[in-house]
Amino acid sequence: MSSSAPQGRTPLIAGNWKMFKTVAEAEAFVAGLLPEISSLSGVDVGICPSFLSLQAVVDSARGSRLEVYAQNMHYAQDGAFTGEVSPPMLAEVGVTGTILGHSERREHFAESDRTLQLKVPAALDAGLRPILCVGETEEEREQGDTERKLRHQVQEDLMKVETERLGDVVIAYEPIWAIGTGKVATPDQAQEAIAFVRALVGDRSPEQAQRVRILYGGSVKPENAAELLALPDVDGALVGGASLEPRSLTAIAAAAAAAA
Ligand code: PEP
Repeated sequence: MSSSAPQGRTPLIAGNWKMFKTVAEAEAFVAGLLPEISSLSGVDVGICPSFLSLQAVVDSARGSRLEVYAQNMHYAQDGAFTGEVSPPMLAEVGVTGTILGHSERREHFAESDRTLQLKVPAALDAGLRPILCVGETEEEREQGDTERKLRHQVQEDLMKVETERLGDVVIAYEPIWAIGTGKVATPDQAQEAIAFVRALVGDRSPEQAQRVRILYGGSVKPENAAELLALPDVDGALVGGASLEPRSLTAIAAAAAAAA
């Protein structure tokens, strides 16, 4: 990556594909995306396919600038955990990292802060970059509980991460009411929440707070990306729906590069 933000944090645009795209569709996407992003600099670009597509996407992206992330990971090295995937399994495939604690996993699969406490350091120990998702519900925001929720999640989920490694974690602030709804946070809401998350990391280490990349996620589209990505504390975006098409993911990455 040739340049970076003034604070030295290279923005990251990561596409969360959720449970979309077969292996063949994922390979076709990468073939379409690579020429589009080849001229971009100053931004890291990643996609997060299903477990089944990871190997094919890593192989298709080899030699390119495209990063590949999983969407979840178990914390144990191995064991009797039917249906789960371990840190060494992901490392062997050659992914860059993994999303952890996405609100859909917290809501539908009972992902807990206690489990995330184990998962985040387990990813780092395996040489994988965690993208830890945090964020409040609409009800929590309306009741003035946004900071309480963020404080709880950030402190709990990062509790077992060594202080000097905090900057190796990527945090995605994703207000749950904005995910997949088309209701994007206002620039003030995004900046305020992300600055708060950075301050929480700063409570443990001011130096790591300057290193840690904090993304915004929630209905980011090419049309609203520039405004969000220009905010001082926003270091990129976790993108769901708009990451399913190479052109729109590229447009968002280009907005991040322009803002850096
Ligand atoms: C997400 O899945 O993390 C997300 C932010 O989705 P969307 O961009 O579709 O709101």
